[in-house]
Amino acid sequence: MRFKIHRGTKEIGGSCVEVWTESTRIILDFGMPLVGKDGKEFDFGKYKTSNLNELISKEILPDIEGLYDSSKKLIDGVIISHPHQDHYGLANFINKNVQYYLGEATHKIIELNNLFTPQEIYLKNTKYFEKEKSFKIGDISVTPYWADHSAFDAYSFLIETNNKSLFYSGDFRSHGRKAKAFYWFTHNAPQNVDYLLLEGTTISRDNKPFKTEPEIENELIELFEEQCKINLIYTSGQNIDRLTSIYKACKRTRKIFVVDVYVAKVLNELSKFAGIPYPSENFENLKVMFPFYTSRRLKKEGNEKILYQFKKYKITKGEISNQSDKIVMIVRPSMQKDLEKINGVEGGNFIYSMWEGYLQKPNTKKFVDYLIKRKFTIHKIHTSGHADTKTLKKMVEAIKPKNIVPIHTFESKKYQKIFTDTNVVRLKDNEVVTID
Ligand SMILES: [Zn+2]
Repeated sequence: MRFKIHRGTKEIGGSCVEVWTESTRIILDFGMPLVGKDGKEFDFGKYKTSNLNELISKEILPDIEGLYDSSKKLIDGVIISHPHQDHYGLANFINKNVQYYLGEATHKIIELNNLFTPQEIYLKNTKYFEKEKSFKIGDISVTPYWADHSAFDAYSFLIETNNKSLFYSGDFRSHGRKAKAFYWFTHNAPQNVDYLLLEGTTISRDNKPFKTEPEIENELIELFEEQCKINLIYTSGQNIDRLTSIYKACKRTRKIFVVDVYVAKVLNELSKFAGIPYPSENFENLKVMFPFYTSRRLKKEGNEKILYQFKKYKITKGEISNQSDKIVMIVRPSMQKDLEKINGVEGGNFIYSMWEGYLQKPNTKKFVDYLIKRKFTIHKIHTSGHADTKTLKKMVEAIKPKNIVPIHTFESKKYQKIFTDTNVVRLKDNEVVTID
């Protein structure tokens, strides 16, 4: 078995790993980069007019035979670890006949992104895997392990052939609402793994353990208990762990949790996979707001049925204004027009609950400025979607791999200082490793 990391040895985002034997070739993740060669935020818009060959020569797309062009033998499978764009976001360039392997909920989230975001990624041939159930692609055996991550449906993978093995960590942590999945893993991890490809997103940050989701829930409760204030929260509509923390904090402080149609649809679809709150009779304090731009888009594209689906749970801007001290509402910059129609909320709390770096985005800055003008107090309540150093060490201790390969990190040079008992192999992008 051989493998190479096409992208990810020296950066976070854009992950892509190829694994192959004499007869089979597979890809693990096919992500959109997060940073460009200049170190600035990656903007695919700059390459919109480039054709496939130009994208390959500019190293935006990895150069992989049989992935794009059907005149060559097609690659045997593309595995997607979880529904974050930096792990699947370039998939619309892949030949339509390629077979995908992914979680069913992951596919659902990718489809929802087509409805609510500018993305257009349609996967034709999909096979859904389940945690701990091994499957074969040619002579390669793949076992998915369920991971605790800020994405809803995330996995790590054991890749095996002829007694040789590689473990791809994907993105993971142990302080989220699926901490038990990681705890289970530490007791059931595969052994004698030759190479562990280990994410190190947070390695450059300080060494303190990260706050858990239940701790986030308690911090939210403290704010919600302040009297006579509306609470607006800006968080990812797909961070189900965080939305659950907010819902629980609302329940404990008798608040009404208001989500917009987009978040309502995400919760509704994913409630088929897990016991999460979603607009229904079972969750009385969960209401749905219909934002102007989202509603207009859904109507324009013939998807009004999504609006009707949540009509029963609708809360109007007037109703929010009239009882604003009882309201906790998910917001984002595109909802400023809607907030302008909500009265009497000056002096409320605005809770920023995402990675701090995104605060630098111009539209986020503009939105925060608008809320400051309306005398909102800004609070930052967040915890990382990725493992802290302690958790990374626990994964290494559980697997006891022969070698660790840094991936999804800016700090590969720090690995050997952290994992002192294991050999760290720092690869370059496109460097081939033979496991024999
Ligand atoms: Zn991720």
